[in-house]
Amino acid sequence: MNAPSPADKFFAFDNTYAKLPDHFYARLSPTPVKEPGLIKLNHALATELGLDPDALSQPEAIEVFAGNRLPRGSDPIAMAYAGHQFGNWVPQLGDGRAILLGELTHRNGIRRDIQLKGSGPTPFSRMGDGRAAVGPVLREYIISEAMSALGVPTTRSLAAVTTGEWVFREAALPGAVLTRIAQSHIRVGTFQFFASRQDNDAIQLLADHVIARHYPDLKDSEKPYHDLLQAVMDRQAELVAKWMGIGFIHGVMNTDNMSIAGETIDYGPCAFMDVFHPDTVFSSIDQMGRYSYRNQPRIAQWNLARFAQCLLPLLADDQDKAIEAAQTAIDSYPDIYQLEWLGIMRAKIGLSKAEEGDLELIQGLLGIMSDQKADFTLTFRDLSFAAKEVPVEQWRVRSHFDQPANFDAWAQQWTSRLQQENLSDGDRQTTMQKVNPRFIPRNHRVEEALAAAQAGDTQPFEKLTTVLEQPFDEQPENAEYATPPMPDEVVQQTFCGT
Ligand code: AMP
Ligand code: MG
Repeated sequence: MNAPSPADKFFAFDNTYAKLPDHFYARLSPTPVKEPGLIKLNHALATELGLDPDALSQPEAIEVFAGNRLPRGSDPIAMAYAGHQFGNWVPQLGDGRAILLGELTHRNGIRRDIQLKGSGPTPFSRMGDGRAAVGPVLREYIISEAMSALGVPTTRSLAAVTTGEWVFREAALPGAVLTRIAQSHIRVGTFQFFASRQDNDAIQLLADHVIARHYPDLKDSEKPYHDLLQAVMDRQAELVAKWMGIGFIHGVMNTDNMSIAGETIDYGPCAFMDVFHPDTVFSSIDQMGRYSYRNQPRIAQWNLARFAQCLLPLLADDQDKAIEAAQTAIDSYPDIYQLEWLGIMRAKIGLSKAEEGDLELIQGLLGIMSDQKADFTLTFRDLSFAAKEVPVEQWRVRSHFDQPANFDAWAQQWTSRLQQENLSDGDRQTTMQKVNPRFIPRNHRVEEALAAAQAGDTQPFEKLTTVLEQPFDEQPENAEYATPPMPDEVVQQTFCGT
């Protein structure tokens, strides 16, 4: 590591997780790489974080992003956690290829983790090499930033650098490091790590840390841990409902990949659906479809039940009472989720009021879409252009259905439901277009950008990330990024790419 220099003052760190007891993490520095090279710095995010993009473009900063230089004030750690992977208990996971450099506090008081992913082996690496390949790093960059632009809570990507080293997977691939920003990297699996060791003091410390950091309103609550469970459930319900509303499939909803702050985290074999089908699975490692599109809400509840179990010692002194409280909370989850989802779906079809029959109306459309393999994103987007004075035969949304008669029948119900809203077609169109994107990171476009980047051409990656910054704008000049794949372009499977 280089000696600190004035140029290291990129970040004003204020590290709280590293002040928790030693067994919460392993203290170690990133492993330097041969030849750091900047692929991408996220200027907008840097500015949002109160950082200077020009300073972050300097060679010294690029060395920080590669793990070759520790910025002043950093207290680097790999966090300990456990988790259920595909339902199987793994007592120790932890940051096997990530290092938390530290936390910085925003002007608006929000604290963010700055983490390097792909920064070398740690005591939690098990058989892994601690590294990441350029493809998965840019995949996380593209999709996390697209999610943010789509209004979904998510970790962010501040920078991606190449390492000048190879990583060995099925083939030798160029190595890269991602600088990830998160409200925190505390996961359901972090709680599980301590719960499985019956370390109740640690659970309480962690819960208090989480309340202070992510749920400060609960600090003065009379039953803070009960309220914490409720608040984490609420945020997950909102998060997963948002995923469902944009056709996002996380792909690896293991408990170690569920953030306590309610952000989407750990972009592996995730993908957006093109044609709508609720059973869609892309991940090559998800053979049973555990994490299919339709299962996501149910899996979120399963993960939250694991979280509730961890909190039992804090919920009541009497174990039966604690279990009862946890069970009652978890049983209420489907209703909480359903309400979130219904709100999102109502907005997607231009409804602002809640009326009886809305659920059936929404399900009716989804049913026709999945029967006729309609494109999920474009159906909702193009529905926004429908207008009373234009006959349904001329609506552009109709082009997404092979047998438009079924859609026409639905459109009639929808039109009559719209009469209960006091909105002009123009206003409805504007509101619908704020929630129904024209652009999503389509698999074939993502794969195309990654293949080019891997071969040294980052231009398609640049173009794709730029288009995805404004997903709700029509951008007619970029129309080809909105279109579904041609049959020979369809991506059937995504890979974990660790
Ligand atoms: P993920 O599937 O990325 O959520 O990772 C699951 C676990 O495997 C975490 O503990 C990671 O830190 C670890 N892991 C994944 N890839 C590697 C790697 N290349 N080297 C070391 N650990 C890894
Ligand atoms: Mg993970």
